[in-house]
Amino acid sequence: MPTRHGNHRSILLGLILGAVAGLLAHWWGTRREDAAPIIDGFSSVVAYPIGQVFLRLLFLVVVPLVFASIAAGVARVASPAVLGRMGGRTLACFLLTTAFSAVLGVTAMRLVAPGEGFDPALRDQLMASFASDVARIDSGSKPGGDAPISLQARVVQVLDAVLPRNILGAVTQLQMLPLIVLALLTGVGISTLPATTRDRAASALDVVADAMVAIVGIAMRLAPLAVFCLIFVVVQRFGIDLLGKLALYVSVVVGCYLLQLLVLYPTLIRILSGRDGFATLRRCIPLMITAFSTSSSNATLPTTIRTAEKELGVRPAVAGFVLPLGATINMNGTALFEGCVVLFVAQIFGIDLSIAEQATVVLLAVVTSIGAAGVPGGSLPLLMLVMAQVGVPAEGIAIILGVDRLLDMGRTVVNVMGDVVTSLYVNAAEDRAAARTA
Ligand code: ASP
Repeated sequence: MPTRHGNHRSILLGLILGAVAGLLAHWWGTRREDAAPIIDGFSSVVAYPIGQVFLRLLFLVVVPLVFASIAAGVARVASPAVLGRMGGRTLACFLLTTAFSAVLGVTAMRLVAPGEGFDPALRDQLMASFASDVARIDSGSKPGGDAPISLQARVVQVLDAVLPRNILGAVTQLQMLPLIVLALLTGVGISTLPATTRDRAASALDVVADAMVAIVGIAMRLAPLAVFCLIFVVVQRFGIDLLGKLALYVSVVVGCYLLQLLVLYPTLIRILSGRDGFATLRRCIPLMITAFSTSSSNATLPTTIRTAEKELGVRPAVAGFVLPLGATINMNGTALFEGCVVLFVAQIFGIDLSIAEQATVVLLAVVTSIGAAGVPGGSLPLLMLVMAQVGVPAEGIAIILGVDRLLDMGRTVVNVMGDVVTSLYVNAAEDRAAARTA
């Protein structure tokens, strides 16, 4: 379809032009003092608001879309056996791909070892310059401060994360898990109603989901310009010089992302769904650029659902079930990145992690990636917990913070595409089940 490809191209063009313009602005700002206010003015008065309108249009539809698509999907599936089968496949695929990613990150860092021989003066300089950011992230990892938490308080924390007393409170903070639980239960509730009522309720929910997907379509028209603006704002502020100093670390992480995206995912798509892996990736280019420029799985979720249903032909019941769950708990790129950082910082501090400790890193990277919020930098507080757990100084995270926004963009793409791969797998399995019963 010409319009679709036209949109692909213009979003890609927005990305490239945004990066080039951002680089030029950064360069100009560092050369001429009088340039800084002009760049700052353009960035805050023009680029930032345009990027935010796009982002907020996407965020606006997340709650109704997630609720309606999950509840309608579950109501239609109507059978606990089918739901269990889909849930089992979804969780198995999430877990296996996330574990693979964490192992890949740890192994690559172990092999290349970019932290060995790292300049101690640069290490101390980075730790001093990013100390205040570390303190901010650290306070996010322990909301109650340093006071020890009782066992009962921990149990309450878990309960609050899954079944809060006040669903609206959770929703206003964009906590997805309670919303998913409510939507699942609503779907189950509807499926117990008489057939005609059930169908009417499911159709009403479909209307809501379709309307939200249509809003995403409107937002995507804005995407070329918005992506330009989002990328411009990040790149012009970015410490390019730091990128050079951490070049080997950045190359290993990006190399792992690419391996995951261009080798593992196409292979899995081929094996698990019988589709052409690269053709599928090509159809997901606008989706990947949205993930890249927003750095948020949650903000990208509406586009993920739209792409899966409209571009890849995934059944709404599968897309509505797998993708919101994936955006919340399936973060392959995040697990990969966490494994990389822990090993890199350990190498810089001369800490030799044993095989058992590396296995612990993998395990904790998988567990914490499940708990990480799908927002920019959502994994950083949890990453500090993993580091502390294996005896790597958590403040060492300061060393990588200066380049993290860029790597966050990349890992969000890997996170989102991991969800798409799982949805294709579950969809293909449901197609086979439907063909058998037909
Ligand atoms: N930005 C990532 C996401 O939304 C989360 C993270 O790893 O920080 O998927």
